[in-house]
Amino acid sequence: RRAELAGLKSEPTVSADGAHMELAANIGSVEDVQKALDNGAEGIGLFRTEFLYMGRSALPTEEEQFNVYKYVLEKMDGKPVVIRTLDIGGDKELPYMKLPKESNPFLGLRAVRLCLQEQDLFRTQLRALLRASRYGNLKIMFPMIALREELRECKRLLQEERTKLIAEGIEVAERIEVGIMIEIPAAALAADQFAKEVDFFSIGTNDLIQYTMAADRMNETVSYLYQTCHPSVLRLIRMVISAASKEGKWVGMCGEMAGDESAIPLLLGMGLHEFSMSASSILPARAQIRSLSRQQWAERIDSVLELGSEQEIKQVVQQHVNS
Ligand code: PEP
Ligand code: MG
Repeated sequence: RRAELAGLKSEPTVSADGAHMELAANIGSVEDVQKALDNGAEGIGLFRTEFLYMGRSALPTEEEQFNVYKYVLEKMDGKPVVIRTLDIGGDKELPYMKLPKESNPFLGLRAVRLCLQEQDLFRTQLRALLRASRYGNLKIMFPMIALREELRECKRLLQEERTKLIAEGIEVAERIEVGIMIEIPAAALAADQFAKEVDFFSIGTNDLIQYTMAADRMNETVSYLYQTCHPSVLRLIRMVISAASKEGKWVGMCGEMAGDESAIPLLLGMGLHEFSMSASSILPARAQIRSLSRQQWAERIDSVLELGSEQEIKQVVQQHVNS
């Protein structure tokens, strides 16, 4: 089995009926890039930049960030690299920022909510990203978007920093794709509207499930509610993919679900374009996708999503996979 998987390292990710997909890696540090490549990643679908800010006593400078982003882009050698802007808050704290304690941090000042309030911090990161953009295939992604106005404000700041850099004589890539994470149900439900204003979506199921089921992703006592294949979760995902496809935009997924073998047939059938996961899941996922017919799964989706529980859905998936 190991040898069989290793043989897939440089193979394309293509379903049994010939549909091409991209399998990308989630990374949280520069060390992870080599691991991604060793496991046959076709890109980076999520670079969690929080780790640049954590475990230290002050904010990282523009130069430090620029160097990290440039390194990752060069190392990926033209393959797509989705870098997510800072997603601090929730379970991730920055003691040196001295932010007020919140009673519901996962519903509080997190990610772009914080970045739009602390604009100097945000602009520094955007500048570092823009400066690094000419060293590879950079795509910028904003986390925890709920409102259209948040997206517009993020895009405005990005454009402002771009204009400033160009005026300073600094080279910036001609075109950088800009996308958002879909991880708040309000954004999933308005995906048709967001799709008109972005280049791509990446579905963050770790949070999307937590917010859809109102079950803290860290809380063991309510983990029975945290259901990857709950029909409500799947319906939201289908809605997001359809809305983006109508606008000709691509959709990825960077939550844990993207590498979950009981979910992959359904995601394939819904038309997900990019699956981003921890490096070690990539080759098993590639092997699985090569054994599945996208067309057949597409035809099954509507009836599967009529089922009333995660358990029933997983059973049906299992039956088809085994038959
Ligand atoms: C997610 O929410 O699914 C996600 C990928 O982001 P994080 O796990 O960093 O919140
Ligand atoms: Mg998230």
